[in-house]
Amino acid sequence: MGILTSLFSGVKALVREVVGVVAEGVRAVLEEIDKSSFGRAATQLVQGITKRYFGEAEELAEAERELGEKYRHDRKRTPADDDRLREIAARRNALRKDIAAAKSNEAAAELRKNEKSVIAVPPGHDEISATVGILASKVCPECGAPMTMRQGGVVSKTNKPNLYWQCTSLPRPFCRTITFNPEKEKDVASLIRMPDPNLDLSERRAIWERPDVLKETSERVFDNLLGQIDPDVICPHHLLPMKLLEKPNADGRLLTSYEYVCRWIDANGKRCQHRVALETFPQVSETLKRHEGVGIIR
Ligand SMILES: [Zn+2]
Ligand SMILES: [Zn+2]
Repeated sequence: MGILTSLFSGVKALVREVVGVVAEGVRAVLEEIDKSSFGRAATQLVQGITKRYFGEAEELAEAERELGEKYRHDRKRTPADDDRLREIAARRNALRKDIAAAKSNEAAAELRKNEKSVIAVPPGHDEISATVGILASKVCPECGAPMTMRQGGVVSKTNKPNLYWQCTSLPRPFCRTITFNPEKEKDVASLIRMPDPNLDLSERRAIWERPDVLKETSERVFDNLLGQIDPDVICPHHLLPMKLLEKPNADGRLLTSYEYVCRWIDANGKRCQHRVALETFPQVSETLKRHEGVGIIR
């Protein structure tokens, strides 16, 4: 068993051992990546491969949408339609792994590029919450499909989100989710990442909640993120990037008003129900960072 537990885009790696000397930890992670299936694939992959995969995912989504609309119209499915749906599902299963490998590949390249700037810290809830909805290099122990970190709301007593790994294979819910408690994980001792005041400052929460900061952050999300498609947040069914929109019951507050939604139609002709809510400050900060290069605290 190697040192790497999981790799995320945005220069983040969860590792099993406590990393004392960062350069050594990073070297061990990079060596392990080189030997991994996605690391080996790197040499054969060309830039823009993720885009090509998304193109393929879009073709499948389009074919499913057509079948969904036909089903809504006819109220029945022909044997040929069923065959076509099975074919779409099979192609998606292969594509799901390819996309995860391509994303891990990009993440590995990002880590390599920044290997001199990263730090190693004990992972906390804020750090893990920042990775919610992003495809990780973690593999489901039950079926081998890629997994994503999810959160099931914020526990009011601790003010911390409930975190867990979720399998992206479908149909759901067949594979078990895996609870993730950053402070108690046996498999995760350090997180390697870029320095970030939104994760490093002990007074960060007080700053995030300051009225002037909250106002500015809300405006940044509303003006710059709303309606944007995020290539790092992917619908596990359609394998396509999701769009940040206002929730139907949005109340105007930063942490209860926004969610990522999938824009595609399923085989029953209904809009895809996969959602990723934007509900913690670290998540908002990370999303801003992905789009603008800087988080809430600049
Ligand atoms: Zn699974
Ligand atoms: Zn979807």
